[in-house]
Amino acid sequence: MPLRNRNKRCSKCGITHSEKGELCPSCKAQKPVSEWQKDKRRRYSSSEWKRIRANVLSEYDIPQDEWHLYAVDHRKPDGSGGYDPTWSTNHEDYVLVPMLLTDHNRKTANQDVFRDENGRFVGK
Ligand SMILES: [Zn+2]
Repeated sequence: MPLRNRNKRCSKCGITHSEKGELCPSCKAQKPVSEWQKDKRRRYSSSEWKRIRANVLSEYDIPQDEWHLYAVDHRKPDGSGGYDPTWSTNHEDYVLVPMLLTDHNRKTANQDVFRDENGRFVGK
């Protein structure tokens, strides 16, 4: 039986490749915007989130003119980590804590390195 020709066209850029899957090696290497990242954008632009965020910041007595300096951090009540869509997508299941944006960005940038395309942590 002849070997099957495994060359195919990349579904993104159209070059011929012999990789598993649809994409050529260089398209594969580009990190796509994953579903959970899109979901994250949707989540944080909702009016529900704006309301929750405002509640958290006022509970912590942060003056309204400083709100732009803060992010609201998601923590699991048992302390086992941050926002985890496989655990819950409901903001109110989390302990919500205001954090200075500079600190929060550092934290999430470190965390997101260890997520798979579903937002699940895949270890360090
Ligand atoms: Zn390609």
